[in-house]
Formats: sequence, C-alpha cells, structure tokens
Amino acid sequence: MSAQATRTVTGACHCGAVKFRARLKDPALAHRCNCSMCDASGFVGVIVPADAFELLTDPAALTEYRFNTGTARHWFCATCGVKSFYRPRSNPDGYNLNLNCLTLDPGHIVQIEDFDGRNWEAHAADLRHLSKPASE
Ligand SMILES: [Zn+2]
Repeated sequence: MSAQATRTVTGACHCGAVKFRARLKDPALAHRCNCSMCDASGFVGVIVPADAFELLTDPAALTEYRFNTGTARHWFCATCGVKSFYRPRSNPDGYNLNLNCLTLDPGHIVQIEDFDGRNWEAHAADLRHLSKPASE
C-alpha cells in the first residue's frame, strides 16, 4: 500500500499577522458548510490532523469566539478579522483551514463537497477520519 500524496501549503489572513503552514492530501477534500457560522462567514474548510499544521506567527495575533457548546474555537485575526483556520467541534484534535486563505501549488487538486452543518449532529461523524494522524 503506497502512502497518499501530500503537499505543503501556506495560509494567511488578509493582513499577514496570521500565517501558517500545513500538509494537505492531494487530492484534498474541502467542505462548504451551511451551519450558521460557516454560512455567515463564507468559510470553506479543509480539515487536517494537528500534526499536519504549524502556526508560524504569534498566537497573540488571534482573537477567539465561542458559542453554543463552546467546543469549537473560532480564531480570527485581531487586526483584519479574517478567520484563516479554527478548531472544529467535529474534530477537536485537528484544525479546519479556510480554503480561501490557502496558497496551493498549481495542480494541487481540492474537491469541494457540501456539508450539512445545519443538521450537524447527524453528519459530524462523517468528518471524524479527516483529523486522524497521517501515520494511521
Ligand atoms: Zn490579519
């Protein structure tokens, strides 16, 4: 069995106070979610394991918003307000990266699927595997 191809991508907020690096699968899977939060902010997410993510800038540049169960940690750039990544309730052991904030290599394939976050309880388990460490 051959390991699935991965590519390193960089991500940033609008002003650059928040920058990160991550390893994504190729092809990668992104979700366009219709929950109240993603819908309002236009977030298209790529979930990765924690060990595939590295924040390159000072965590103090981020401000946090929590609601409902408080499990998800929504982090926004305190300067420009862009949410470039966050810790999702479905995968509290990983990160959800904003596809719109990523710089991808040419040819890096990202498939975008709809996710029914308005019926989160019924569908969240479908996302669990996305934050498993690559070695598993
Ligand atoms: Zn910013």
